[in-house]
Formats: sequence, structure tokens, C-alpha cells
Amino acid sequence: VAARAAASAAGASYDIDLPGITGPVVTRFPPEPSGYLHIGHAKAALLNDYFAHLRPGGRLLCRFDDTNPSKEKMEFQDAILFDLKLMNIIPEKITYSSDYFQKMHDYAIQLIKDGKAFADDSELGKGDEDRKNRLPSKRRDLGIDETLARFEEMKTGSEEGQRWAIRARIAYDSPNGTLRDPVIYRCNLEPHHRTGSQWKVYPTYDFCAPILDSIEGVTVALRTNEYRDRNVQYEWMQEALRLRKVPIWDFSRLNFVRTLLSKRKLTRIVDEGKVWGWDDPRMPTIRGIIRRGVVVPALREFILKQGPSRNIVNLEWGTFWSTNRKYIDPTAPRHTAIQSSGAVTCTVQGQAELTIVSKPKHVKNAELGMKKVVYGKTIQLEQADAKSFETNEEITLMNWGNAYVRSITKDDKGDITGLDLELNLAGDVKTTKKKVTWLATSNDNLIPVDLVSFDYLITKDKLEKQDELEKFLTPETEFRTQAFADCNVAELPQGSIVQFERKGFYKLDETYKGEGSRAIFFEIPSKA
Ligand code: ATP
Ligand code: MG
Ligand code: MG
Repeated sequence: VAARAAASAAGASYDIDLPGITGPVVTRFPPEPSGYLHIGHAKAALLNDYFAHLRPGGRLLCRFDDTNPSKEKMEFQDAILFDLKLMNIIPEKITYSSDYFQKMHDYAIQLIKDGKAFADDSELGKGDEDRKNRLPSKRRDLGIDETLARFEEMKTGSEEGQRWAIRARIAYDSPNGTLRDPVIYRCNLEPHHRTGSQWKVYPTYDFCAPILDSIEGVTVALRTNEYRDRNVQYEWMQEALRLRKVPIWDFSRLNFVRTLLSKRKLTRIVDEGKVWGWDDPRMPTIRGIIRRGVVVPALREFILKQGPSRNIVNLEWGTFWSTNRKYIDPTAPRHTAIQSSGAVTCTVQGQAELTIVSKPKHVKNAELGMKKVVYGKTIQLEQADAKSFETNEEITLMNWGNAYVRSITKDDKGDITGLDLELNLAGDVKTTKKKVTWLATSNDNLIPVDLVSFDYLITKDKLEKQDELEKFLTPETEFRTQAFADCNVAELPQGSIVQFERKGFYKLDETYKGEGSRAIFFEIPSKA
């Protein structure tokens, strides 16, 4: 309840409304349990959640659209519930289309008896052609009794029954293809993950959604506008069945450049081992993006800010990540990491032994508390920084103070192999051009870490239907750099979001487990 209140309070400032709809709003999010939720589903879920809590008395339902046993699994159903929770979306009620199989069956009988549906066995082959050519099916005039008999046959799942489907008798010649006698019931012998082998016939989504929205008390049905043609079909079903009409509010589908948002394709890359799993940080799934470092309030803001837009666009990830940055920047503690490869050992004149001091984790956010900074007689610098120095230049060691570069040792390739620094703590840090990160050399202070960054999974901005996925998979998408991090990093809990100064934001995926182990950090993009 608290989460819900917070969510609606946070949403109160968005410029989205429901024209013409008054009173408490009841919405439903209708996922099919055939994959994990992705960022496109997040848009649907967050908009439904937003409207449901826009005014007092509203409700959000989550209805599993589980009418196709060939694609659905308990694993996905559980994952979806978990992911909604991850997004702080708490539906008032969880329902299942499968709870209404008997009821929908009875509505189908009613439709047949009213003369508004017919059984058809031309669907699998010629039926589609007829539909394309706006021709009536040869079975279109099949009578009520015969249709009922065919439906009975379908229900047994017999070979004969499987050849048939039930179609609504709407308008075979309509310019709107969705009205050309759509299929409302079909056979499927695969066991259903909730109802087992009780049913051999299943309603289609086109039949199911208008019925259940109406009887479950939904007051506005949110749908993506790419299917706007389907709206008249939805209205037809409710009218034909004498059900309460439910208004539709449509929104644009969310797409991102170089991102797959098709459950079928995502399932393929998971099954073929192209990624580590559904929660891989390269995946556009809710789990994937959270693991990569998105925080939920940022996700919510991003979605709701572009909520009213009806344009189907291919969004850039840049705005998404900069919205996220706005949320993590003020709260991410600052730490240091030094790239291991090429690290330069420097001696520091003026520093006798190891000394531990306390510094704020974030100079602009005292609430985050303090961290240890270790000063030492030898320190590590990154090669690139060391290379930029000139003899006798005054530089700043961040979180410590100024120092002069007294001598530079190079190898024959020109790489720096050693530096002598002389502390000048009285020096003004505002006057130096180079402010560098460093870590004192000591076993306890150099925690081995992997810094991992990722590329997009596909090479093309927008994959077209005819494009073969294989041809557009990015060959290399994972980039690992070894580094040492400051001692405080050993204590960070899994999932921590930090900033490694002068590098960027990272999320801790695997904690440091002591000698011989490495902590694993994923880079959180800040722009595209
Ligand atoms: P399928 O293509 O297998 O039907 P789906 O992606 O449509 O899968 P559903 O589980 O049916 O997945 O979708 C749940 C809800 O999420 C639906 O209301 C659907 O319109 C919405 N949705 C799915 N993808 C997107 C997207 N890219 N942008 C916005 N909404 C989406
Ligand atoms: Mg769907
Ligand atoms: Mg779909």
C-alpha cells in the first residue's frame, strides 16, 4: 500500500489523462506467461498502474492471458509476478484467463446460437487466402446445429475436431482485416500449465480480452495503437455478447534502437546461449536492465514522461540512461579503481608510512557517511595519467593533495615504469591541471575487480521482419578490464551502485569474497 501511494504520488506530475473517463479507474495489465517482462511490457504495466491510481477508488488488475498452452509456462508466470514486484507494481488482484475457460466456452455457444459464429475447416490452408482476397469462407453459411456439433467435435480433440476452428461471422469483405470473420476458438492438445488436459479448445485473445475486460469490471482497456484496427473488432464482440462496453485508450508501442523486443527472438538468444540468461545485463528485460543499473524510479519517470505520445518511434537509449543518471548521481558513493594493466608504482616523498584517514563517500551528500582513504609511501597510478606528466609539474592526487612530479622512468617503448612524487600538501588544488586517482600500495587496499562494459546485442537500429537474426548479432558484446579498487569496495553489498571517480557509474554484480576472488562491476551507461 505504501509503495502504491508513493507510486501514485510520484506519478501525479505527469501530463497524461484519460479524456472522457470519469470516476474511479479500473485497469488491467494482461501479460501472456510466455517470456520474461521487457521494457516494452514495463510501459504497458506502468501506464496501467498509473491510471489505476490516478484517482481514489481505482484498481489495477493483472490478468494472465494464458490461452495458448503451446507458448506458456509456470516459470514465466512466476517470473512476471516477480518482475512486477521489482518495479513496485502491486496489482490489487491477479487473475487468469484460464479461470474463465468454462465461461468463455459458454459465451462461444451463445454466439453460435445467436447465429454470429460458424465452424470452419478451411482456416489452415485456403481460409487465409480467402480472407486476404475478401472472399467468404466456403463454410460461412454453416448452420447453428452443425456448428454446435463441430464445436463438440473440437472439444474432444479428435483428429477431425482439430481440423476445425470457430470464427465470428462479422464481415468477410471489410476493408479492416480484423473484421474478416476472425477465429475465436481453436484446438490445442498440449497440456495447459494450469488446467492440464481438461480443455482441448482455447479461445483466442481477440475473443477473450473483450469478454474478460467487461466481466472483470475494467473501466478502460489500454492497448498499443499498432493494433488500432482491432478496436472495432473488440467493440463488436462486446456488443454481440450483450456485454458492458469498455472504452479503449491506446498508446504507442515502445521500441529502442539496436534492441530486440520480441519475446520469440529473446527466447531464441537465451536458448541458444548468446547471453547468460533472461537476466543478462545486455537483455532489455526488467531483470536485465535492473542488473545493468537502472533504478525503478528512473524507469517510471522515463516511461510516464513519454506516456502520452502516440508516435511509434525507435527511441535512443541516451535519454533513458541520462534519466537514470539523475537518480543515481546524488546517491552513489564515490570510490577509486585503477586499471591493473600498465599501472605505475610511484614513490611519494613526504609520506612516511601507511596512514588511514576518513573522507566523505560523496562530497555533496553527507548522509552517505565516510570511507577510508589510505595514504602510503608507494602508490599506484594509471599508465595514461602517468604518461601525461612532465618533470616538475605540480599535480593533484584526488582526496589527498598536491604533489610535484620529480622524476619519470620509462622503458624503451616509452611506457612509464616509475615515478617519484614529492608531496606539496600546502599547494592549491585549484591551480593544477591534472587531478588523478591513485591507490596506496598495500594488500588490503588493492581489491581486485573486473570492470565490465557491454555493447548492444544487435548491429542494426531496427530489425525488420525479414531480417535474419543471426546476421545482425554483434560479434563481441562483453568487454572486461581488470582493475584494483579501494579497500572500502570489499565491504560493499551485492547490487551496490557506485561511481568510480573519473570512470563512471558501476553496479556491483558479484561481491569480493576474499583473497583469490575478484569483485565484478557492470558499467552503467550514462549516455548512449
Ligand atoms: P506476444 O507478441 O507473444 O503476444 P507481447 O510482447 O505482446 O507478446 P504480452 O505478454 O501479450 O506480450 O504483452 C503484455 C502487454 O504488454 C500487452 O498489453 C502488450 O500490448 C504490451 N506490450 C508488449 N510489448 C510492448 C511494447 N514494445 N511497448 C508497449 N507495450 C507493449
Ligand atoms: Mg500478446
Ligand atoms: Mg505482441
